[in-house]
Amino acid sequence: MNLPVYLDNNATTPCDPRVTEEMLPFFSETFGNAASHHHPYGWLAEEAVDHAREQIAGLIGASPQEIIFTSGATEADNLAIKGVFESYADKGNHIITVHTEHRAVLDTCKAVEKRGAEVTYLTVDKDGLINLNELEKSLRSDTILIAVMYANNETGVIQPIKEIGDIAARHGVLFFTDGVQAAGKIPVDVKKDGIHLMSLSAHKMYGPKGIGALYVSYKNPGVSLARQIEGGGHEHGMRSGTLNVPGIVGFGKAAALSGSEIEEFGKKVQPLRNRLERDLLKLDDASLNGSAENRLPHVSNISFGDVDGTDLLRRVNKKVAVSSGSACSSASLDASHVLKAMGLPDDLGRSSIRFSLGRFTTEEQIDQAIDHVREVVHYLRDKAGVRRF
Ligand SMILES: *Cc1c(COP(=O)(O)O)cnc(C)c1O
Repeated sequence: MNLPVYLDNNATTPCDPRVTEEMLPFFSETFGNAASHHHPYGWLAEEAVDHAREQIAGLIGASPQEIIFTSGATEADNLAIKGVFESYADKGNHIITVHTEHRAVLDTCKAVEKRGAEVTYLTVDKDGLINLNELEKSLRSDTILIAVMYANNETGVIQPIKEIGDIAARHGVLFFTDGVQAAGKIPVDVKKDGIHLMSLSAHKMYGPKGIGALYVSYKNPGVSLARQIEGGGHEHGMRSGTLNVPGIVGFGKAAALSGSEIEEFGKKVQPLRNRLERDLLKLDDASLNGSAENRLPHVSNISFGDVDGTDLLRRVNKKVAVSSGSACSSASLDASHVLKAMGLPDDLGRSSIRFSLGRFTTEEQIDQAIDHVREVVHYLRDKAGVRRF
């Protein structure tokens, strides 16, 4: 099959061959259970897990004991929000988050609301950025958590994380950030930024699917989390279950590679992204969504006016794999909640495409993508009788 050019790296990234290679022995000869403390099979597995923990902690400026392995970032988001909600019930029940968060955060907030939490949803401006004054004003004496993502998966927009961390510290409130799209793509330092909890996912940084982590600050402040999965007491009792050793080894390698190649990544993808963006924005009624400055180097979200969103995505995807960044239920395409929150009308939201480049994207692929998207937009406008000269 002739597969389309892959520009959907914010949905998932391929496993880097160096990662896969590192994982292989842990499926077979080094197959031990990391919790088997009485024989070398267990010791070898535990040693590998410890090493991976160091690699992942190193990527974000944490210490190894602050890394709690989970099945992915969805679980980590759930553990952070539900864990804080239950653990800090005597302090309060108020949580502050943002309309543009990932569904794993928004739906978890909805779930705790049903259990008595009060959640404030901050708005964003047309650039997708929160207003720090609005954040500060929404803090209450019973606020227990600020949950603001580091970088948005649909637009790449980076929130003012350090400033949020400062506000959280000033008010003695915990700060949780979904760091899935930022970690490994731009330098992240949880201590410098005053972050107390951060979710991570291996498959968004060239590691395997089904493994992620929650960074949980161990001191100043030491965060206490109510466990969401009962069992053998793994991961300091915060997340029971036999560790996914091959996944963890791959996650560790992926984190180490992303960290050591972070500059190279930016230098490679940013010029390619910029070229794609510049050429596509030359089309009539094409506009960029989200802050041009405060943005990940590999993401571009562009609206194409006067074309039908469903047709656009279907045709573009024949040669270029992208997504609209919005929930896609088979027949109809819902406008993205992120773009809506940024003030985009529904029709324009539906005819928006998220391009997310990656480590393996080539110049040639970008040329192909530019040509194909242009062609599709022209075709759809001609078909609809929209003529511009
Ligand atoms: C992909 C993603 C998630 C979910 O991660 P999984 O590991 O796939 O569960 C959460 N948050 C953001 C911002 C994401 O992009």
